[in-house]
Amino acid sequence: MPAKPDSVAPPGAPKGTYRIETWGCQMNVHDSEKLAGALEAEGFVPAPPSCEADVVLLNTCAIRQKAEEKFFSEAGRLLAGKRRRPGMILGVCGCVAQAEGKALLERAPHVDFVLGPRSAPAAVADLVRRLRAGDESARGTVNLELRDDAVRFPFDRIRRDPGSPGKAYVTIVEGCNHRCAFCVVPKTRGREVCRPMGDVLAEVRALAARGVLEVEFLGQTVNSYRDEDGRRLGDLLHAAAEIDGLRRIRFTTSHPAQMTDALIDAMAAARPKVCPYLHLPVQSGSSAVLSAMRRGYDRDGYLGRVARLRERCPGVSLGTDVIVGFPGEGEPEFRETLALLEEVRFDTVYAFAYSPRRGTAAHELADLVTQEVKLDRLARIQALQKEIQAERNRLWLGRTVDVLVEGTSKRRSSEASGRLPENRVVNFEGAAAPGTIVAVEIVRASAYSLWGHRVPREP
Ligand code: SF4
Repeated sequence: MPAKPDSVAPPGAPKGTYRIETWGCQMNVHDSEKLAGALEAEGFVPAPPSCEADVVLLNTCAIRQKAEEKFFSEAGRLLAGKRRRPGMILGVCGCVAQAEGKALLERAPHVDFVLGPRSAPAAVADLVRRLRAGDESARGTVNLELRDDAVRFPFDRIRRDPGSPGKAYVTIVEGCNHRCAFCVVPKTRGREVCRPMGDVLAEVRALAARGVLEVEFLGQTVNSYRDEDGRRLGDLLHAAAEIDGLRRIRFTTSHPAQMTDALIDAMAAARPKVCPYLHLPVQSGSSAVLSAMRRGYDRDGYLGRVARLRERCPGVSLGTDVIVGFPGEGEPEFRETLALLEEVRFDTVYAFAYSPRRGTAAHELADLVTQEVKLDRLARIQALQKEIQAERNRLWLGRTVDVLVEGTSKRRSSEASGRLPENRVVNFEGAAAPGTIVAVEIVRASAYSLWGHRVPREP
């Protein structure tokens, strides 16, 4: 049953329950925290895990075909829930909402509203309020406004994951000015808008004051940050590193073409608070493919950035994204990607088979690489990277490291899990309070994780 309408709810009683399902990147995860904050400010509370909710939001990702398909299958499944409980409100937010717009309502007419990622946090509460009050004109709303104030959601309203009290995401850039041929993001999130640095720092100070030890600055191209006074990401890192109580600073996702010498120098200068880890998507090791992808750098340019990073920040860990099977990628081009992986020896690689997305430049290109070949290349990348990662992880054996505890290990409930500044996951025996930093001696290493014993040392 839906909760009672607002007019008869006892004062202070929740107005109803909500559930948000999230697909995609950290930006989406953080957008969901804003959506949750907007609903909680309206008096809604999270639905208990096994219960149906009065308001369900699906926060979608359009970057790959698979994520989009998962969303449509979940939306279909929720149709039965809506039939059982006609008062339930179902909203679709995020990148699929923006890309599909009205067409989404035609395909899933039981959806009550569709909100793009830049309009959703500001618009969701009003729509839910109107629908609950029986205002039928709100049903079928499609709001795809690319709002410039999307980076200004009141940060004290963000409902951060209570299970992860030591770490917080902080948006600094929204949107993207690049035009990579395979990517829907410029269409779904619009052109870049940067948040004023004073506002970002106020949020970081407030987080540090309540015990958050690590912040991660977010932007689709986070390293293009430039506020209205011309201050860049390097200036922000420098200022954030001065904040008392804060122990770790990360930023993601960086574009290789904007990984300037000045930013690398700023990273080096703000150590150890700026973590020695950088996610720097390469996408392909072939300059010809990179050019077809319109990435704005070539193989040598990318390798030059890696060399500079390793020179200025010794010991830095690197992660990357790779797309296999982009149109025009033959076996020789693919081998260049394998060779680049061998050369750089990344600590993490997220590899994907190319899937054409509507509305992108590459969608017009003939997708000549068969699915079979794509999957074969994917398997070859994964096999190579597994070896490299196993070798990289073995370097940690015997070392005592600082682990920011995130919670119980996903594999074993008797173990706790956390991360190194280098972004590696470490599991260790016993319990530890999430949000604290503990010392762990690494005694086992596999390609995908590290395992250790807690040791009695103040980190
Ligand atoms: S830089 Fe390229 S891949 Fe990244 S969000 Fe922008 S268009 Fe997409």
